[in-house]
Amino acid sequence: MSASTIRAPQIITEAVAADMANPLFEDAQYRILIVRLSPFRDVESSYTHLVLFDETRRALPKAYIDFAFMPNLPHRKALSMENRPWFFGRASNRNAIEFNMLLISCAFSLELLNIPWLLTQSGIPFSRQERLKKEEQPFLFLGGSSAVCSGSLVKIGDNKVIDSIVDAMFFGEGEGRISEIVRIAAEDSKTGLSKPSIIAHIASEVEGFWPCDSSFVCTRALFAQRPAVLTSPIMLNSENADSIKLAITAGCIGHCTFCLEGWDRRPFIEKPVEDLSKSAIMLKRASGASDVELFSYNFNMHKHIIQLIQIFGRYFMHVSMMSQRLDILSKKPEILIAELAAGKRSFTLGIEGISERIRNYYQKGISEKQIWTSIAKILENRAREIKLFFIISGFENGSDLEEFEHFCDRLAHHKIETHSVTRIIVSAGYLVRLPFTPLQFAPLQGDRALMESIASALCNSCKQANLEFRLASSFEDYWMDQLLSLGGTIANDWLQTCPENGFIYDLHVSTRASKSLCAYFEKQSCFSQLLQEKPHTYRPNFYFIESDRHWEMLAALYDQSLDYLNYRNHRNLYTEKQADSSISLEAKKTIEIIEAQQEAKAHFPSILVKISESDALAFSTPAYERTWLLRTLSTLVPNSERGLFYCNLQLPNYGWGSAIPISPTSMVCKSRVGLSGLKYFAIYGPDKTNMKKVMNLAAMALKNARGVGSILNSDSYSGSTAFLEDIEVIQELPKAEVCRLSFCIPANKSRLINEALEEWLYESNLHFTLKKDGTSIIYHTSSVYNTNRALRYIKYKTISTNLCLSLCIGKKANLSLLADILYKKCAIEKTIFRIDGWDLNAIDLDDLGPV
Ligand code: SF4
Repeated sequence: MSASTIRAPQIITEAVAADMANPLFEDAQYRILIVRLSPFRDVESSYTHLVLFDETRRALPKAYIDFAFMPNLPHRKALSMENRPWFFGRASNRNAIEFNMLLISCAFSLELLNIPWLLTQSGIPFSRQERLKKEEQPFLFLGGSSAVCSGSLVKIGDNKVIDSIVDAMFFGEGEGRISEIVRIAAEDSKTGLSKPSIIAHIASEVEGFWPCDSSFVCTRALFAQRPAVLTSPIMLNSENADSIKLAITAGCIGHCTFCLEGWDRRPFIEKPVEDLSKSAIMLKRASGASDVELFSYNFNMHKHIIQLIQIFGRYFMHVSMMSQRLDILSKKPEILIAELAAGKRSFTLGIEGISERIRNYYQKGISEKQIWTSIAKILENRAREIKLFFIISGFENGSDLEEFEHFCDRLAHHKIETHSVTRIIVSAGYLVRLPFTPLQFAPLQGDRALMESIASALCNSCKQANLEFRLASSFEDYWMDQLLSLGGTIANDWLQTCPENGFIYDLHVSTRASKSLCAYFEKQSCFSQLLQEKPHTYRPNFYFIESDRHWEMLAALYDQSLDYLNYRNHRNLYTEKQADSSISLEAKKTIEIIEAQQEAKAHFPSILVKISESDALAFSTPAYERTWLLRTLSTLVPNSERGLFYCNLQLPNYGWGSAIPISPTSMVCKSRVGLSGLKYFAIYGPDKTNMKKVMNLAAMALKNARGVGSILNSDSYSGSTAFLEDIEVIQELPKAEVCRLSFCIPANKSRLINEALEEWLYESNLHFTLKKDGTSIIYHTSSVYNTNRALRYIKYKTISTNLCLSLCIGKKANLSLLADILYKKCAIEKTIFRIDGWDLNAIDLDDLGPV
């Protein structure tokens, strides 16, 4: 382990690694690295990498599958100091070049800047031709929601692909296809087939797979049972591990002219309620999560959304939902009531156009009346916050801005009149004309002064109305995104220079990078064409994945948008039926059940358990540890997930928070400190008696596990769930003034252990006596100082190849400091303190047995 690892969140702990079920790296038949191009912090709520893991693991049970993420800034600095590449396997600590295949997920165009870094630092050539000649070079396959905007990875000459930064791309929905890709590649590699032949073989079998070669074409892949639901995701050690997503729909009925998602994931389809109901319990059992997000571009598009809220509410503590269509919200009053009943207090609404004219240009399909009906209802129901999203196209004129100003004023007045406490956040971003949408034909808007003046006018309108305003992205980010997305292959040469120029993407791009790309584009002869409105015959990179008819339809829609923009067509876009304010009896009943569920959850009884957990859990985030315990109980006692909703780590009594850091904020400063052993949890569920029964059954199952025919050896009880050592229901938390801990360090690192311990004692302002007792060394803070609340004693001795230490600490102990000193003096990167017990008083030293 290197010094740089401390700078990074430990995404893959020993417990996570157990669930990943990798063989030894050297023994693996095939090695796959799943690469995310942004820091984990930014992608942890996305589940693309989890889908990739699930697909590859199912296809290749004996492969070594690992994750690489763009490191955060402190981690990048530390890695660079050590001359190590930024992208490496977080489980294996291996360089990307040591894998057979890299599956790169690209979520948006700006992430493309980081791909050349991945290659150059890993010793992987930029040239596909060069890579394909070398068997030892990994395959580089790229997919993700932004694959169609990744033309800059490909180099064109004489209207043909002459080279590429990746070996192949995947367009469309990867579920079912990724497993085929990796299976064919792994099997063909065994037969000694050449790399170009393997790629050609995959292309011949897998829809959506394009080998970055003009002699191939492909079509956009759609998963047969869409939307794909991931019911047993690998659980990574994240701060938000207890919140999980499940897709309820695919695509969108909206087809707004700017929205790539709507066009790329068409057609819209919803998962039947019965399927989702089965998936809900499977997901709860496999994940142990307490919260579920019903994932959809617009969750209220699912016809049975209210029923789904109620079904998922049966199993999960919280059911959350993000974006929803405003028109549906205004037409179906029962949806808002159900959302509020389920505890939703924050609302996100995309209005997009600042005026009716601009909304028509976007073909957003919502009317002013619908906007007001929805917002008014949310404000009246005292939601915590409402976020309104707008997009600045550059076409906004004086009357559009005036309309927006009136909108803000009206909003402010309504807020005052209704005494609403709702926080209103207005967010605006610049319109990127994306390929594969009708607005790909539109002229680009690179006039910074114009765009910023519109943003500033919106900001002023908000300020005057006392509304919060946020600009979602800087002009640099917007313009670079625009040039890369639509400029595509033109940007290939520039993209390759990113590492040498120090251009990266981490939340935003630098002004220097943006200026450099602009200067580069200005030198290209085709730049003026790119800036202008495009003819109907215009096709972006990778146009072959769609049919001619589709392109014609996009062009026709663009023309229609222009008509709306230029008032050539005043046709009302909305067939506004009188909204039916009545709520069906069935919906009312469902809402009553949701309300009853929430009421019950607010008063769930809890029981206390004492558990013993293995060192594999030591560096878990609180959220991960909670999910681990609940899914372990589900494994030990089948069906128990129905009665266990939430759990929470507890400390014996007040005052232990700084000595035993367990809260998410203290996790940051305990990065060298791991805690395992004896812990207490409060577990919440509807029925106390049932929960106690589950715990007793779990304890029995664990006991049996140690007998003959151990379940620990069975398939169903493996991975991280095998790390629960013991569980017992207790009546109350102990009152503890001291905590007994133990930890071991390799004997060969213990040369300066006395110096380290004495520095810690000195820094902690503790006086001590040192004594030798047989083979043990004991530091004792003498009785005169026994009033100290930091440490009573440390005792250690060498056992086999380890130096084993016992500590008896008080509430003022600083374990983080001890871990830091052990790192400094003894090169112990991280220390696992195992909690052996909690007591009211320290045991008399004379009673101490051998350590
Ligand atoms: S912007 Fe929203 S409503 Fe419009 S197509 Fe995209 S996802 Fe659908």
